[in-house]
Amino acid sequence: MELKGDKKNNVDEIKGKYTKKQANDLKKKLFAEYRNIWETAGTEEREAAFAFADEYKSFLDMGKTERECVILSVEAFEEIGFSDIDSVKVLKPGMKVYKSIKGKGFIAAVLGKNPISEGMNILGAHIDSPRLDLKPSPVYEDSEMVFLKTHYYGGIKKYQWVAIPLAIHGIVVRKDGSVLTVSIGDKEDDPVFTVTDLLPHLGQEQMTKKATEVIKGEDLNVLIGGIPLDNDDVSQKYKLSVLNILNETYGITEKDLVSAEIEIVPAYKAKDVGLDRSFIGAYGQDDRVCAFTALAAIADQEKPDKTVVCILTDKEEIGSEGNSSAQSKLYENFLVEIYSKSNGSYDELGYRKCIAASRMLSADVTNGFDPTFASVSDPKNASYCGKGICLEKYTGSRGKSGASDANSEFFASVVRILDSKNIPWQTGELGKIDAGGGGTICKFMANMGMEVLDCGVAVLAMHSPFEVTSKIDVYYTYLAYKAFIENA
Ligand code: MN
Ligand code: MN
Repeated sequence: MELKGDKKNNVDEIKGKYTKKQANDLKKKLFAEYRNIWETAGTEEREAAFAFADEYKSFLDMGKTERECVILSVEAFEEIGFSDIDSVKVLKPGMKVYKSIKGKGFIAAVLGKNPISEGMNILGAHIDSPRLDLKPSPVYEDSEMVFLKTHYYGGIKKYQWVAIPLAIHGIVVRKDGSVLTVSIGDKEDDPVFTVTDLLPHLGQEQMTKKATEVIKGEDLNVLIGGIPLDNDDVSQKYKLSVLNILNETYGITEKDLVSAEIEIVPAYKAKDVGLDRSFIGAYGQDDRVCAFTALAAIADQEKPDKTVVCILTDKEEIGSEGNSSAQSKLYENFLVEIYSKSNGSYDELGYRKCIAASRMLSADVTNGFDPTFASVSDPKNASYCGKGICLEKYTGSRGKSGASDANSEFFASVVRILDSKNIPWQTGELGKIDAGGGGTICKFMANMGMEVLDCGVAVLAMHSPFEVTSKIDVYYTYLAYKAFIENA
């Protein structure tokens, strides 16, 4: 409908015509208001949110790396009837299949009743998180102590990673090709590791530095030992002693570490935060909060109308490059297989049209408005903890650079679904214009031709070793994802 400006406002009509009640009713009708869900949720919803948070916290405790998240997803999904897509020749409605993507990404689908040509309803999140990776030659001895050299992964504030307990997770492929899984620091009796910081007594010069230089990348050295090998004739006997422990315990040598994927992550468990336990504090919530809620939404599906898919990607935090990232063809191979095994055969144009008819929520976290750092946000266009899933039309930086700007028609259709199910949502931007920016996997999926909208949970202290989310947001994000895949 065309908007015409030809109707003149009658000043007398506007002035004084409305009673207080009428004015309030009018406001309710015309304003977009986003209320805190704690104010509206009943006992049942609160209890459901708390119970859901407990499950989510144990997922975070068990899944501290992308590989661990894939193992958890495969185990959980096999238990509820999903099988590897390679083992299935023909796909029929209600069938459940998955694929591990190099052990670092995951994709799963529940086949719908409707023809595959109607497209798929997809949830996509990422399961890699910022951390410290080991350098290829990490072990060294200095001043009769032994350390690991690290190379940070993703966007971190380096000063946040010192003076906290750290754990070592990952894999080492031995000379004979066998794979060793490493996880030290999270069990009650495990030792932990740490990057030391300078004492304030001698920190005068350090404290005058810029935050980017207070702790430099080359300062992120992890303390791992301090007892020498019992022999005075050998040099580097402290390092030798540590390598000896590694060899006796795991059968590995220094050379095996060159190709290893070892991640240094915080050693503590996810915790309730607040006297009222309203928040969850944990490492890796970006983006495992969206991964967990997406997995939960898919796990609920038995025989959906449309085929529903969950994609959990790797390498998002470093730009989504490589064969486990959102740009990898391996995820698309799975979609091609879904199409072909549903359709009976592969037909390229048919597949492409199926993707064009598909809809996806790019499930990734956004910045939660923090009153302590209010100056980086536009309060009228910020996401708030407690107000539910945040729908973001675009991400990017500067003039929306790098954003996949969702189409109005699709965005509005997602809003219609959530509104019809009474699922509260909010909207916002990451922060103020030109304050910085960020991206998600949204654009890579949109490039394939499907409709994609960014949305996710608001997080405080994002990318820190202790990120904070609201329990009510986590639960309602799960409900939103479920509503989307069942109704889009
Ligand atoms: Mn993210
Ligand atoms: Mn991130």
